[in-house]
Amino acid sequence: MNYVFTPPAPACVPVLPAAGGGLFPVHRIYCVGRNYAEHAQEMGFTGREPPFFFLKPADSLVPVAEGETGAIDYPPLTKNLHHEIELVVAIGRGGRDIPAAQAADHIWGYAAGLDMTRRDLQNEMKKQGRPWSIGKAFDQSAPIGPLVPKARTGELTKGAITLAVNGQQKQKGDLAELIWSVNETIEQLSRAWELKPGDLVFTGTPAGVGAVVSGDVMEGVIAGLPVLRVAVR
Ligand code: MN
Repeated sequence: MNYVFTPPAPACVPVLPAAGGGLFPVHRIYCVGRNYAEHAQEMGFTGREPPFFFLKPADSLVPVAEGETGAIDYPPLTKNLHHEIELVVAIGRGGRDIPAAQAADHIWGYAAGLDMTRRDLQNEMKKQGRPWSIGKAFDQSAPIGPLVPKARTGELTKGAITLAVNGQQKQKGDLAELIWSVNETIEQLSRAWELKPGDLVFTGTPAGVGAVVSGDVMEGVIAGLPVLRVAVR
């Protein structure tokens, strides 16, 4: 059967060349909301609530090579574009109902990612009880650094996660502060969806989110991973 038009190339994230290179083909992008206590507080929530999820389209990824400054366009419809630095987990082996104790076996690797958010639109949708898609799942909303295999990093369960804008630190946390650990997140996600090789999971952002404008340069740093540097056009 012929395609009606040429299908687009699959979304991919490059693997760090020094770690073997190649392309990691992306299936879906799952994101965890409010997964650091201080960030939950700054968004007006307290306590440990069950994890909740939203998705971004695979083609919202903007891969950025190590040592380079990537770029995203300031998106339409917003006056309040926020940065959210996050540990991204790449799933190499799929499954349903994966117990937390076995979740690490399903992780292929890690990257630093940005869950860019049109906060004004997200807040409006929250207020109206409507879906977050317009606030979260827009074009170029997911800049991401190179993937590093877990075989090289080991399991990432602690270490600093920070984001600076124009050299000024804005976000700061530690992976150990995740309310729902990566393994618990995989357990919960795989109850709701069958995970597939190629799925990415944005695991949540630490406190200090804020706005960026055209001309700003964001620099996200997660211990053990290449720095992610992204300019806003
Ligand atoms: Mn987020």
